[in-house]
Amino acid sequence: MTSALKPPPLRNDCFALPAGVHWTPVEDALAMLRDRLTPITAVETIKIAHAMGRVLAASVFASRANPPLPNTAVDGYGFAGGRPDGAHVLFLLEERAAAGPMLDLDVPEGHAVRILTGAALPVGVDTVVLQEDVTTQAGQVAFNGPIKVGANTRRAGEDVQADEIILKVGRRVTVADMAIMAATGVREVSVRKPLRVAVISTGDELVEAGQSAKQDQIYDANRPMLLAMITSMGHESVDMGRCADDRAALGEVLDNAAAQADVILTSGGASSGDEDHVSALLTEAGAMQLWRIAIKPGRPLALGMWNNTPVFGLPGNPVAAMVCTLIFARPAMAQLAGAGWSDPVGFDVPAGFSKSKKAGRREYLRARMRDGRVEAFGSEGSGRISGLSWADGLVELSEGAQQINDGDLVRYIPFGSLDL
Ligand code: AMP
Ligand code: MG
Repeated sequence: MTSALKPPPLRNDCFALPAGVHWTPVEDALAMLRDRLTPITAVETIKIAHAMGRVLAASVFASRANPPLPNTAVDGYGFAGGRPDGAHVLFLLEERAAAGPMLDLDVPEGHAVRILTGAALPVGVDTVVLQEDVTTQAGQVAFNGPIKVGANTRRAGEDVQADEIILKVGRRVTVADMAIMAATGVREVSVRKPLRVAVISTGDELVEAGQSAKQDQIYDANRPMLLAMITSMGHESVDMGRCADDRAALGEVLDNAAAQADVILTSGGASSGDEDHVSALLTEAGAMQLWRIAIKPGRPLALGMWNNTPVFGLPGNPVAAMVCTLIFARPAMAQLAGAGWSDPVGFDVPAGFSKSKKAGRREYLRARMRDGRVEAFGSEGSGRISGLSWADGLVELSEGAQQINDGDLVRYIPFGSLDL
């Protein structure tokens, strides 16, 4: 393992908004995050066996071709192709070519050799006839033409050539990538250290899940959700627990979080009320921006820096917390993790609902596909956690949309496209 190299920290003003803007469109907010956030995770070299889910810090090149030698794709009989139409009778050699060490044999004209899937083609063989298509008897093999030269074989490098780029910098290594790296002889890859994301819940009303709660208390639902989202997005979560609505106490938790993590997500206390201590503290630290984004669901986002660590102050309502994390924190964290910016993949599908909407803001509905149409959850209340479980994705309604009728095309983004 080489020593880890860490990029410089972000600028303190990386979340600054242009002056005079009242409600920032989602697109502008995303463009600001895309342009100002840079990778902040260190780079290390690891063996490919450990690369699953890691973000590549450099493109990966094939060390050798796949396949390295021409070989047979089927069990059958190999010979020199280019034979005309009609019946063929070839002399069958006694040797057999199987996967493993290459058969050291020159197959003469007019002869064929028994060959099994994966075996490298011996000299003199460029074509294979399927075993099901032949008859053999008394040292001879017979079949009907025509058979194309090269039939049932794989060319050397037909999949990947040596020194070709197989995986690009910024890619998060997938299960399939594990196979292509192995197949092309790659041994080590340069990757980013996982992004460590701290999660803090704020609010005097909160109780830890699973413990007993008084009637006037509510369970902390955001923290388990956010911790799970971070893991699902390929980052490392750091659980900082709950914090009361107390400025000094929250300041300490933020100090601890900044010492351990690359990014901090808080939920609750992010608006500009008396008990909104996240925004108050960030403001005191002199690196706070209240992002009023034209989005529903979503209250203001408090974005700031705490001891050089970016903080995403999410709304307290679980639905808004989840949507804001998916729409803003997800791509921002990917950028910070070195994975680059990626817009979620969505599909235009017929609406299985109708609704009217205020123009000028973007809306996200809890949604799911049934029978080729997308359904929207019955209630848009931001505290309705059940709708998040009901849904398999989000419908994104553009700023301009005002009336959506049954059957109109709307954009559906499955949770899978949002790394969940
Ligand atoms: P706040 O943003 O702190 O004003 O909170 C907005 C709403 O979200 C309030 O009803 C809170 O009780 C609720 N809320 C805040 N944090 C959480 C949490 N961690 N889990 C569930 N609900 C929360
Ligand atoms: Mg609160």
